[in-house]
Amino acid sequence: MQKENLIIIGSGPAGLTAALYAARANLDPLLIAGSQIGGQIAITNEVENFPGFDSILGPELTDKMRAQAERFGTRFEFDEVLEVDFRNGPPFYLKTYGQEYQANAVIVATGASARRLGIPGEGEHIGRGVSYCATCDGFFFKDKDVLVVGGGDSALQEGLFLTKYASRVRIVHRRDSLRAGELLVARAEANSKIEFVWDTVLESIDGEAKVTGVTARNVHTGAVEQWPTDGIFVFIGHFPNTQLFRGQLAMDEQEFLIVDKFMQTSVPGVFAAGEVMDPIYKQAISSAGHGCQAAISVERYLEALHDHKLPGKSVAAAG
Ligand code: NAP
Repeated sequence: MQKENLIIIGSGPAGLTAALYAARANLDPLLIAGSQIGGQIAITNEVENFPGFDSILGPELTDKMRAQAERFGTRFEFDEVLEVDFRNGPPFYLKTYGQEYQANAVIVATGASARRLGIPGEGEHIGRGVSYCATCDGFFFKDKDVLVVGGGDSALQEGLFLTKYASRVRIVHRRDSLRAGELLVARAEANSKIEFVWDTVLESIDGEAKVTGVTARNVHTGAVEQWPTDGIFVFIGHFPNTQLFRGQLAMDEQEFLIVDKFMQTSVPGVFAAGEVMDPIYKQAISSAGHGCQAAISVERYLEALHDHKLPGKSVAAAG
């Protein structure tokens, strides 16, 4: 059993920022990063709304955050947390593929994952024409016809990115007005490769070894059509990665972790940051802010633990 002061689970902007602050506060954090560094931002092409950068590639921003956290002493483990027991801590128990840990405090920054359409043909065509990441897979669609599903910022931003490769990008939205912000809408409307298909949902993704088309239905007329296409990129939102914590940490009806104003979960000593607890803002910068807050709260919590004021009290009571 490896004993740790603070374990941070997750390596997106929330986890990396928590690591930076915790390392600078001499909390000696261990960050369990998953198999690959970075959350959603690492598979985002261009980030134009992170203060201090006019424009930066998602993977580059992740690299910079990681290097900064490492410079102040964060240790990284490229492993996945498989099991936790937060019921009798501190210390809290965590198990990964490679190790068992005890930690005096934990920050959960496991983020969110792309939602699937849940239609026939989707699962079996992932990697064969169905994708949830334009940055990762756009290159494979040079001069091809692709569909993007969704009407939010992700659909438009990633749809615009896909125009670098694809010959035509049809954005298929279930309503007739977009949720995305005005700037992205204006850019998409001005792009000659982008077409919008309104009031339409996909019923199935068709093809044998790879995607050859889709079956689409107009939600008003009920008309069903089959369209040939080479790829489908799905951007219909995300769900929080909280499966590991069911039955141990309080969650809302959508399974986002519930935290208090100190970023503390229902278990004193276990904190959460980023999209795992944020159903509203979902920005790289807001996740980074939560990471900072969680690390500062952990510092207070661990000080109180050291002074035997805890366990069992909240950070507020300890501070
Ligand atoms: P989102 O804002 O939740 O949009 C999801 C879109 O998918 C909506 O248009 C929704 O339709 C549609 N949708 C949901 N379920 C569907 C289904 N089963 N079938 C078909 N369509 C479905 O998600 P997002 O675009 O990933 O954005 C998430 C957050 O990140 C937002 O806060 C966004 O502002 C932010 N973000 C910002 C940027 C940027 O600033 N450049 C870039 C990316 C993301 P309805 O509209 O009908 O609900």
